[in-house]
Amino acid sequence: MPLDPNRVVRRLRELQELTGDENGAQRVAWTDTWNRARAWLGGLLAALPLETARDEAGNDWWTLQGVSDRAVLLGGHIDSVPSGGWLDGCLNVVAATEVLHRLAEAGTPPVTVRLVNWADEEGARFGRSLFGSSAAGGSMRDQDELRLLTDHDGVSLPEALAANGVDLDRALEARRQLEGAAAYLELHIEQGPVLESMGLPLGAVLGTFGVERHRITWRGQAAHAGSTPMTARRDALAGAAKLALEIRDIARRVGDGAVCTSGGVVCRPGIVTSVVETAEQLLDQRHLRADKLAELLHQAKMASEHFADEEGIGVEWERIWSIEPIRFDETLIDFCDEAIHEVAGASHRLPSGPLHDAAEVSRGGVPTVMMFVQSLRGLSHTKLEDTREEHLELAVQALDRLAAKTIAWVAAHA
Ligand SMILES: [Zn+2]
Repeated sequence: MPLDPNRVVRRLRELQELTGDENGAQRVAWTDTWNRARAWLGGLLAALPLETARDEAGNDWWTLQGVSDRAVLLGGHIDSVPSGGWLDGCLNVVAATEVLHRLAEAGTPPVTVRLVNWADEEGARFGRSLFGSSAAGGSMRDQDELRLLTDHDGVSLPEALAANGVDLDRALEARRQLEGAAAYLELHIEQGPVLESMGLPLGAVLGTFGVERHRITWRGQAAHAGSTPMTARRDALAGAAKLALEIRDIARRVGDGAVCTSGGVVCRPGIVTSVVETAEQLLDQRHLRADKLAELLHQAKMASEHFADEEGIGVEWERIWSIEPIRFDETLIDFCDEAIHEVAGASHRLPSGPLHDAAEVSRGGVPTVMMFVQSLRGLSHTKLEDTREEHLELAVQALDRLAAKTIAWVAAHA
């Protein structure tokens, strides 16, 4: 049976009907709605000759055994944020069911092909993203912190996991699933405005940005707004304000897609009659290259010290979180680009700002690539998230071509 790209669109709408409401998708991981979605996904594959398994981290696997055990993986996540969109994550798992249908009906493939539905990509309930893929990829090393996470109702992560048959202490045993994995492919909506602005349906993803996140605390002196002359002030907010503007120049100077965001400043005492004594500023910096990411951070720190001197205030930096940039596999990026050219006539290579399960798989040592399909208005994590149907159909065709090229490549090296 030939590929039926429109069937993917119909199924995605069916999933939205089944697990969404007037506010959007409600497939938050470790909930009943998520389990309904997982069962529905299994139903799409029930007629195929696949081995099914749920691993120790709650990831679901469907395996089409090939001549060789070397495996090409197709992955995505069916969980969503609360009131999310109809495509984020589920596009790839549903598109991959179509690819598996075509492959299974063509007979035994030369290499094994597996579909994985990663558990809890979004981290919407407990604030920890990429749960299942970080367990399988092996980067999950924060078990003691994970144990302390609770949701809004006070349910702990281990309790919620246990209710879904997952033992946190054994989650890392999911690593076994990546043994023998020769390639990992993930289709995703772009969730940004780049492809739409270029008038292109699809793009090949170069990798995911490295991220540096810091809390910067500026310390001045609270003083009366009426009695303190302008020249006698030590205003903590002035330092934060100068840095918030300076990071735009820093991003421009470092270039190559650098982005810097000052996402919030909290001032104390925070009253209209006082100069600001402390200003706590949040800074997020991202780049696809480690050296450029380091340069973004270095320049921001230098600038902050300069501004602290100018304003007669103190400044301290504290790292909240960081992750290194992850470059996808050059050969697979080329295959992805070719596949896109074949179905859409033109392609574009771009980095991913958001993190994805693919980053964890790549860190786990498996050659990886992602394909992006255009997002309308760059919107995601909202019910307004959308992509044109014809672009979704092109994406399914391009994913199928990418899978075919990858299978042939792995078979030639198996
Ligand atoms: Zn996603």
